[in-house]
Amino acid sequence: MGRRKDGNKSLAPGGSQKRSSSNGLDDAATGTSIGGGEEVDEEMLKDVVRTKTYQNVIYQNTFLFKNKVVLDVGAGTGILSLFCAKAGAKHVYSVECSHMADMAKEIVQANGFSNVITVLKGKVEEIELPVVHVDVIISEWMGYFLLFENMLNTVLYARDKWLINDGIVLPDKASLYLTAIEDAEYKEDKIEFWNDVYGFDMSCIRKEAMMEPLVDTVDQNQIVTNCQLLKTMNISKMAPGDASFTAPFKLVAERNDYIHALVAYFDVSFTQCHKMMGFSTGPRSKATHWKQTVLYLEDVLTICVGEALVGSMTVEPNKKNPRDVEIMLKYSLNGQHCQEHFIKTRHGTVSVAVFGDQEKPALVTYPDVALNYESCFQGLLFCPEAASLLLHNFCIYHISPPGHELGAAPISSDVPIPSVNDLADQIADVLDIFRLGPVMCLGVTAGAYILTLFATKYKERVAGLILVSPLCKAPSWTEWLYNKVISNLLYFYGMCGLVKDCLLQRYFSKEVRGSAQVPESDIVQACRSLLDERQGENVWRFLQSINGRYDITGELHQLQCRTLIFVGEDSPYYSDALHMTSKLDRRYSALVEVQACGSVVTEEQPHAMLIPMEYFFIGYGLYRPSQFTGSPRSPLSPWCISPDLLSPESMGVKLKPIKTRMSLDI
Ligand code: SAH
Repeated sequence: MGRRKDGNKSLAPGGSQKRSSSNGLDDAATGTSIGGGEEVDEEMLKDVVRTKTYQNVIYQNTFLFKNKVVLDVGAGTGILSLFCAKAGAKHVYSVECSHMADMAKEIVQANGFSNVITVLKGKVEEIELPVVHVDVIISEWMGYFLLFENMLNTVLYARDKWLINDGIVLPDKASLYLTAIEDAEYKEDKIEFWNDVYGFDMSCIRKEAMMEPLVDTVDQNQIVTNCQLLKTMNISKMAPGDASFTAPFKLVAERNDYIHALVAYFDVSFTQCHKMMGFSTGPRSKATHWKQTVLYLEDVLTICVGEALVGSMTVEPNKKNPRDVEIMLKYSLNGQHCQEHFIKTRHGTVSVAVFGDQEKPALVTYPDVALNYESCFQGLLFCPEAASLLLHNFCIYHISPPGHELGAAPISSDVPIPSVNDLADQIADVLDIFRLGPVMCLGVTAGAYILTLFATKYKERVAGLILVSPLCKAPSWTEWLYNKVISNLLYFYGMCGLVKDCLLQRYFSKEVRGSAQVPESDIVQACRSLLDERQGENVWRFLQSINGRYDITGELHQLQCRTLIFVGEDSPYYSDALHMTSKLDRRYSALVEVQACGSVVTEEQPHAMLIPMEYFFIGYGLYRPSQFTGSPRSPLSPWCISPDLLSPESMGVKLKPIKTRMSLDI
C-alpha cells in the first residue's frame, strides 16, 4: 500500500541514525564537535505542522509571554526564542549545546533581538543562567516515538531548577498512541528481503532489522484497528521516572485483515493557551518530520473484525545509554485463532483450546452449563488488564464440557452420559496428555463444581482454585426441578427461546438482562446469540450430569490449595457460595462478593475480578508488582504485568515481540 519507499530511518541501537546525532547532541555528550546539522534544523523548520503550531501558540497567546522571562531549552537556530521575543517577552535565554548556538547568536543579532535574547552555548544541565528563575519554559524536545533522544529529562531538569512556582511549560501535554497496520509489501521489502539476497542467506540482518523500530510514514488506509492511547504525560508535573512505563493495550480490528506491525505516534498540546492548541503525528493527520514509528511483529497475524490484539508495551531508557529508549512489546491475539485440541479421554473426547505460551504455568478453565470459553471467559480476557495478568503469567487451557465447543456435532445418544466424576477424570486425562504439573483452575458455577471435585480427587494436581459462583452441594429440590424443566424443554424443543431465557437468568443479573423498558445489554445479547450455536442434546447431557451431582462439602476441608471465590450478589447460587466459603479453611480461602452482578462474573463484571486475582497470584509468587517508582497508580500502570516484562535486557533500542502459541499458529 502507499508507503514511501525512501527516507525512512531505523532507530538503531547506539543511535547512529538518530536525529540527535546529526545535530550535535551526541557530540556535546562526548565533548567532541563535528560540523553539519543544518539539514536537521532545515527539516525541522520546514516541518510546517511543527513550527507553525509553535508560532501560532506564541503569537496568538502573547499574554503568556508579555514581560515574562523565557527559557528556550534546546534552541537550535533560535526560532522559538525569536517568536517569544516578538511576542513581547522581557528576556529570552536560549540554551543550545551544539555548534548551532553560534549560528543562533548571529541570527539573533541579524534580526535585531540581541537586547532581548541571550544565547548560551552549552548543555542545559551544565550552564549557569544569569537569572535565578524563569516564568516560561519553551522547548521542542520531542523525538521520534516521542521519547527517543530522551530530551524530555532536560526539560524536566530545567523546570525543576529554574521555573517559578506558577510558571508554565510549553508544550505541557504529550500523549503516545498505538495502532496496528497491514504492511505486507513493505515488510517483505524491508525485512524478508534479507532471507535471500542474490541467493545468499542474510537472515542474521533480518533479525536486526526486525528489532529496530522504523521511522516512516504510514498510509491511513493501512490501519486495521482502533488507535489506543498508551500514556499521557503532564510535562508541568511529571517526574522523570514517569517516562518509563508499561501500558496495556487492546487493539480491536475494524475489518478483516492481516497485521504486520504496530505503529506508535504521539500528539502534543499546549493547554495553557487561550484556546487549546497542539498537533498530532498520527497517520490520519498531516505528515510531520516525526512520521510514525513502525514496530514489525515477528508473526503475520490474521485478524477478523471485532477480534482484539491484546498486550502491553514497556518503554524505558536503556540502562547503558539513557538517551536510547527500549521498547518491549508483548501481545496475543484474543480472537478465534487459538489452538484447539481434541483430547481423547477415558470418557470420550473433549475440546481444549490452548491460549498462550505452553512454557508458562497452566490455567485450566471450565465454563457453566451451555457455555464455552467464548461465552464464559471472553469478557475477562477482553479486559486488557486481566488479559495481561492472565496471559503473561499462564498458558490458558480452556476445557469445554463435552460437545460444548464451537461447531460441535450432536453427541450420539448411544454414548453414556458422563457422571460428574467422569468429567473430573477427563480433566486429569487432559493434564496427562499435555504433561502438566499442578495447575491453577478457574471455573464458573457448574464448571466450578467440576474443578472443585477434580481438586478433591486429585489434590496434588491443583495449585489453586478460582471459583466463580460455585456449587458444592447436591442440587436443592427447587434447583433439581428447575433443571428438569430446562432438560425437558431442551429434549423436546432444543435450544429454544424459553431455554435461553432460563439460562440467561442463571448467568446474569436483572440489570443487564433488561426489562420491558430497558433493553438487554450487549453482553446478554452476545451470550444469547452464542447460545444459538450450542447443540441442545449436548447441553441436555451436561445438565443431566450436573443435576446428578453429589455433595462434596465434606471433602472441602481436605483441599490442599488456596481458593478464591467470586460470587455475584444477584446470583441464584449466592448462598451456595457463602456455604462453600464457610466450609473452606479460612486461612487459605477468600470470598469476593460482587455487587450488581449475576453468576457469570467473568462476563458481567470482569474488572471486579482483577485486583483480587492479582493478590491471589502474588501469594503464589507467580506475579509481582512492578519495581517502578514515581508514577501514580493508574489503570495503565505497570503492576499488572509479569515481572519478566519489567526486567528487560539492556540491548539498546529493541523491539521484542513475545510470541505466543496462538500467534505462531495463525
Ligand atoms: N528549538 C529548535 C530546535 C529543536 S531540536 C527548533 O524548534 O527548531 C532540539 C535542540 O535541542 C537541538 O538543537 C539539540 O542540540 C538541543 N539539545 C538537546 N539536548 C540539549 C541539552 N541537554 N542542552 C542544550 N541543548 C540541547
